[in-house]
Amino acid sequence: MLFSELGLSADILRAIQDAGYTTPTPIQLQAIPLVLEGRDMLAGAQTGTGKTAGFTLPLLHRLANRARPGPSAGRPPIRALVLTPTRELAAQVEESVRTYGKYLKLNSMVMFGGVSINPQIKALKGRVDILVATPGRLLDHVSQGTVDLSQIEILVLDEADRMLDMGFIRDIRRVLALLPKQRQNLLFSATCSDEIKALADGLLNAPAYVEV
Ligand code: AMP
Repeated sequence: MLFSELGLSADILRAIQDAGYTTPTPIQLQAIPLVLEGRDMLAGAQTGTGKTAGFTLPLLHRLANRARPGPSAGRPPIRALVLTPTRELAAQVEESVRTYGKYLKLNSMVMFGGVSINPQIKALKGRVDILVATPGRLLDHVSQGTVDLSQIEILVLDEADRMLDMGFIRDIRRVLALLPKQRQNLLFSATCSDEIKALADGLLNAPAYVEV
């Protein structure tokens, strides 16, 4: 099976080719068509399986191929939110978004704690289509009123098991409460504990299950 058979647009296929990938990994083969259909998904996949491209490629495709919403409160809205447990992972995911989205007119931003908040506040005044964030700093922005999550179309929880291990469940629930009801949800986790199942039960709507 080739990337070109998965339903991704030419602009994305070109970026994949530039990255030097020839064939999709098993998680990509399974996840990409389901995400393109708009399905919610629970995916069991470890780092190194190509999971990041598994959600980033179809996320980019969907955002690029849906009508861009009008401005909300004078600003173009943030359309996709990816939550990660650590700043390193957030930076890596956002780098992937840039790599795979380089031929698309979509802007991304990464935000995490431990660095000054002011440049982030400034960046949020511009157009941000895809926000990759760690939960704590995202909530700092929420309390300062510098981020609006009311127009999110796609939510990704990456390495959700690690986020739970790190005690982020309350933060995640606070973020979920700020999202619009109608949206696509993707939950990635290396392990499937009872806690992950409970999170998935509350979050996902008729999900597809993918495991590699
Ligand atoms: P991840 O599991 O998302 O952390 O990805 C692991 C590594 O595999 C990253 O360095 C990617 O650049 C690379 N990668 C992802 N998809 C493919 C693919 N289809 N072919 C070759 N390398 C890939």
